[in-house]
Amino acid sequence: MNKVKSITESGMRPPVTDAHLDLAFDLEKQRAYGKRAVLNRDYLPFFQAGGLTLVVSSIFVENLFVPEMALRMALRQIAALKADIADCADHFSFCVTHRDVEEANRQGKIAVMLSFEDCIPLYQDLSILPLFYELGVRFMGLSWSRRNFACDGSSLGPKEWGTPGGLTGFGIALVRRCRELGMLLDVSHLSPAGFADVLRYTDGPLIASHSNARAIVDTERNLSDDQIRLIAERKGFIGVNAMNFITSPEGMPENAAALAKHVAHIASIGGVECVGFGFDLNDQILKYIPQDELDIVPRKCGDVLHTHAELPLLIEELDRAGFNEKEQSLIAGENYMRLLRENLD
Ligand SMILES: [Zn+2]
Repeated sequence: MNKVKSITESGMRPPVTDAHLDLAFDLEKQRAYGKRAVLNRDYLPFFQAGGLTLVVSSIFVENLFVPEMALRMALRQIAALKADIADCADHFSFCVTHRDVEEANRQGKIAVMLSFEDCIPLYQDLSILPLFYELGVRFMGLSWSRRNFACDGSSLGPKEWGTPGGLTGFGIALVRRCRELGMLLDVSHLSPAGFADVLRYTDGPLIASHSNARAIVDTERNLSDDQIRLIAERKGFIGVNAMNFITSPEGMPENAAALAKHVAHIASIGGVECVGFGFDLNDQILKYIPQDELDIVPRKCGDVLHTHAELPLLIEELDRAGFNEKEQSLIAGENYMRLLRENLD
């Protein structure tokens, strides 16, 4: 019996959270071509089948538009996300605080939050950051796997990659300003030197919204055991990522069991309270990703969970891996809700 999917006595659904989905990216594309209520049509059935209560949408701008059009594309994505939520207001609610998310749950709706994935829309202009805060962005993923004005990203694979560095002067000012504003810093995709600098120049929690364990798949895109420990020490959060090439070593099965191994490893290093989901499901949007971005990954891209409807498969694997029901609930969503309660109330 899967307790994670059952309704509690209070009428609230148990939290099931996904800390990273390129949702606004997809909505901007589809709405530009005249589609409406995309959330209800393309996402809701899968979200409901997985019992999802909260999803964090990234703001991700592909290389094609960087840097000249990055700001416009970021704004278009936010506009598309909000417009589509308005089309689907019976089922979705845009949220910025823990309270908002709880209220959405009480109303039986799926909460949607917003995160930068790469600060490139800012160029190097900190003065516009508070405007994004006002628009409801509460997470700052500093980089994608490329260089921007603040920092370097981490390599994803075999493509030649120059030596990455830490934070720039702008990057240091940015992380400090995020802390002042109350935006949570997200270190997924950040270079190891950048990660060290974020620790050096800020206090408070960090998250890695969609990263796996480097002990299992050895790529800088995943977290070393030391990084896992440091995030856990700061009461942060790590969401495991379902992309095949950072989940399964080459030639190994690409499935829910492989992903459960990352959960188990991260829990063994940082404790079961630091780990959850940030699936980064990409199958649906791969058709929009330009070839130069696909070229930087080591093998054909795909998800080890094909939609959120397969979430129960992962819960089964967590059960098989020895996590008890309480621990499964923490991993499925309570850990992420704790992060929101402590930082975005
Ligand atoms: Zn990403």
